Amino acid sequence: MAWKTIDDMGLAGKTVLTRVDINVPMENGVVTDATRIQKIVPTVEDLIARGAKVVLLAHFDRPKGKVVPEMSLIHVKAALVAALGRKVVFGSDCVGDAAKAAISEAAQGDVVLLENTRFHGGEEKNDPKLAAEMAALGDVFVNDAFSAAHRAHASTAGVAALLPSAAGRLMEAELKALEAALGDPVRPVVAVVGGAKVSTKLELLGNLVGRVDHLVIGGGMANTFLVAQGIEVGKSLAERDMAATALEIVEKAKASGCVIHLPVDIVVAREFKAGAANETVGVKDCPKDAMILDAGPKTVAALAKVFEGCKTLIWNGPLGAFEIEPFNAATNAAARAAARLTKAEKLVSVAGGGDTVAALNQAGAASDFTFISTAGGAFLEWMEGKTLPGVAALG
Ligand code: AMP
Repeated sequence: MAWKTIDDMGLAGKTVLTRVDINVPMENGVVTDATRIQKIVPTVEDLIARGAKVVLLAHFDRPKGKVVPEMSLIHVKAALVAALGRKVVFGSDCVGDAAKAAISEAAQGDVVLLENTRFHGGEEKNDPKLAAEMAALGDVFVNDAFSAAHRAHASTAGVAALLPSAAGRLMEAELKALEAALGDPVRPVVAVVGGAKVSTKLELLGNLVGRVDHLVIGGGMANTFLVAQGIEVGKSLAERDMAATALEIVEKAKASGCVIHLPVDIVVAREFKAGAANETVGVKDCPKDAMILDAGPKTVAALAKVFEGCKTLIWNGPLGAFEIEPFNAATNAAARAAARLTKAEKLVSVAGGGDTVAALNQAGAASDFTFISTAGGAFLEWMEGKTLPGVAALG
């Protein structure tokens, strides 16, 4: 592995700048889901146990280089105290005197939380001056924010270039899981790509067809592939202008020996709403006035067979309009099939990207997957085969 972990660093008595993702959802100043905060606890505790003083660097929301009081990390402090059970000293700036004062005030075992890095315009521009001011605060840099690793920002890539750097526990787990799924996977590998549109996942599909053995295309984007093959999809969501691109992806897959799997049966309805009257028909039989909202049971059975024949699975995007029942059926059933095989140790399963996590949670399958990435953009860019600057900077 090209990057170091906490185990490779001497940390006793060191001040460790720790980049975390605590960009949690909040309503009326109260954190409504503390999952991201809970996930950084192992890294913070590990660093403290090794004798380090932990200084947290993080962004919150999108203040775009201005001080926006509602986007202050002070609102996250209480949830951090609750998760860590430790004193948290807040610094009202992420650099300069306010940051230094907070770090001196904190005793070993306390945690320092510095103000939103994005209050500085230089953060998102990876301004070397801001990165140097951050680096001046500590001895070592630990990046535990995989979800922010696809951006070269001062607090991710900039500071990593200036201090001895390592991946935190969460980043380490994420990188190992991703490596196991796509970097150096046990074959055969199946990728499931669903969701609304081909246009948002072109690079991802292009990268995957060259690297996996089976590619399952589902959701709205499958409709575009059906249209490209001359199959009528009625009023379904489909990007008709992307048909040629879809055919190019099919050709590329053929050339590299990747088998593409499209729906063989479909669930169609006249309305996009929960409980809409629906019917299951063959893939070529979508009525002119109906839209495809899910894959049918024959498709699910075929997918389960593909999963059974594979050793590694990587998944992004739902197979249907999973937010509205009963059009979550195919996503749920396929997710449960993958979860069962994973539990039986026949499959390594990795999934990620915004809606995917929600879909797998809804199916009750998430906890049985080998790894679920909560990183949205970073996970997708990694699936696209891109180098993530925040990770590269740790090398
Ligand atoms: P994405 O963000 O690209 O992963 O797309 C997720 C969205 O795709 C979800 O909101 C789904 O409801 C939607 N979706 C999946 N399949 C369909 C479909 N057949 N028709 C319309 N929307 C769909």
